[in-house]
Amino acid sequence: MSDEINRGKEEPKPSVSFIEQFIIDDLKEGKNNGRIHTRFPPEPNGYLHIGHAKAICLDFGMAQKYGGKCNLRFDDTNPVKEEVEYIDSIKEDIRWLGFDWEEREFYASDYFGKLFDFAIDLIKKGLAYVDDQPAEVISAQKGTPSQPGTESPFRNRPVAENLDLFYRMNEGEFDEGSRVLRAKIDMKSPNMHMRDPIIYRILKSPHHRTGDKWNVYPMYDFAHGQCDYFEGITHSLCTLEFEVHRPLYDWLIDQLKTSDYRPRQIEFNRLNLTYTMMSKRKLLELVQEGRVSGWDDPRMPTLCGLRRRGYTPESVRKFIDLIGYTKFEAINDVSLLEHAVRDDLNLKAPRVFGVLDPLKVIITNYPEDKIEDVEVINNPEDESMDSRKIPFGREIFIERDDFMEEPPSKFFRLAPGKEVRLKGAYIIKCESFRKNKDTGIIEEVHCTYDPGTKSGEGSSGKKVKGTLHWVAVRYALDAEVRLYDRLFDHEDPAGQKDEDYRKFLNPDSLKILKGCKVEPSLQSAKPLDKFQFQRLGYFCVDYDSTPGSLVFNRTVSLKDTWAKMNK
Ligand code: ATP
Ligand code: MG
Repeated sequence: MSDEINRGKEEPKPSVSFIEQFIIDDLKEGKNNGRIHTRFPPEPNGYLHIGHAKAICLDFGMAQKYGGKCNLRFDDTNPVKEEVEYIDSIKEDIRWLGFDWEEREFYASDYFGKLFDFAIDLIKKGLAYVDDQPAEVISAQKGTPSQPGTESPFRNRPVAENLDLFYRMNEGEFDEGSRVLRAKIDMKSPNMHMRDPIIYRILKSPHHRTGDKWNVYPMYDFAHGQCDYFEGITHSLCTLEFEVHRPLYDWLIDQLKTSDYRPRQIEFNRLNLTYTMMSKRKLLELVQEGRVSGWDDPRMPTLCGLRRRGYTPESVRKFIDLIGYTKFEAINDVSLLEHAVRDDLNLKAPRVFGVLDPLKVIITNYPEDKIEDVEVINNPEDESMDSRKIPFGREIFIERDDFMEEPPSKFFRLAPGKEVRLKGAYIIKCESFRKNKDTGIIEEVHCTYDPGTKSGEGSSGKKVKGTLHWVAVRYALDAEVRLYDRLFDHEDPAGQKDEDYRKFLNPDSLKILKGCKVEPSLQSAKPLDKFQFQRLGYFCVDYDSTPGSLVFNRTVSLKDTWAKMNK
């Protein structure tokens, strides 16, 4: 991984990626009879993360844009690691992103029969052999990139013996690891992947779809390219690490193909993000070790985590679009992702009042039993979102840090003798406050209001610099608010040589605030509903929330609080 971090927000980007340009050219040349057919091939051994979204947007996006199709194909060649839970979550996440594979849900295991027949075919052509050596020996004989490999003593086994042994491997006669089937290519090839790669191994675990039908399973490299071929895939888009596998895929397809058709593989750079990591194995460790609450913990880079955090599919797609596709590995700045969700929620999220750290204010000249509804607009960015009424009364909560006993000169919020506007309501002036003598904590602030300053009712001519959000005490709803910070305090936690990524876990990545107060309109808010708590950020209702006890996740803070508020 390169150390380069791509922080550019508005970097100039060609209007189409190099991949899209290849597709355009292929279509122009009439290749594949003008067909475009892609696939997204997840291995069902974990939940999808934002890196996968980059592949999904490309695979489905290109098919969509050029009138083609995109298959969903589960690469379930390893019966040991895969689980049905993952298959369901993967489908849910792709749909959430807004893509549809229609009826084309396939599994590599659908092709086990065809792949087995192809292996038999290779044996018959003298292009594959059974090797009885243990894995370590085979691996040692592979040589190094600068040194040619050594041929296996079993390499020139007669075809009949290979056939007999391979059938018996599949019948379950031999132990796991005792024999493998290898393609017979070239032990001296400068490309290590061409040095007689293993194409089948014995595994005696039952498979979630084929049960105990098979005792031999194809290696990923033997399945992947052929599955593309069987499905008529025209453009096989994958990440850069597969570039060196391409000659092997090509060699295999050369043995298989019966016409000019072959899938075209094009590689692009993986998505890496600062302050997190994309390895499914490591993300699984975080879950299993209880370092996060689950795959959908809002701090996880998984799609279900981002969804729970309050990200919209549009914001994820926008982000993917912004970073683009290249041939160079880089790390993208997570703040670009935050920027994308802020932009999207700014347009969509209704504004509400929520107070995270409440301080009671008593408006001493306001009638004790009076409650009046004041009108506030729901989203200044979108008039169609209209306005709502919220109750205002003699006692309200404001944010504790919006009051200072001894403020510095540039403090435009509440302080003794100072005036502020309560958003949507009146201008109030602080007359006094009550402080707990023992703890030094301010318990109440006493203010007076100016009845001639009600928002929206002509101008009293009075202007103040600060505007505060607030919630009426009598109508406030209790809420729990979960604030998140980065899960790791290192930009590239998994990329540090000799250092365990766990060392970089941020101990303060979750802060739970109890006793927060929110306006009564949130009573009916449902999980995944999104709001802007004015001046505080974007918040999303958590799955743990119930009407009687609301729970919110902060998606992101607002960037430029004061500039926005005083506009
Ligand atoms: P593993 O970490 O187990 O090797 P993987 O991350 O490659 O797995 P797959 O389920 O095999 O996960 O990925 C499905 C597809 O998503 C592949 O085509 C892969 O290239 C792509 N993909 C995975 N991670 C990223 C990433 N960080 N950026 C872009 N594409 C990715
Ligand atoms: Mg993979």
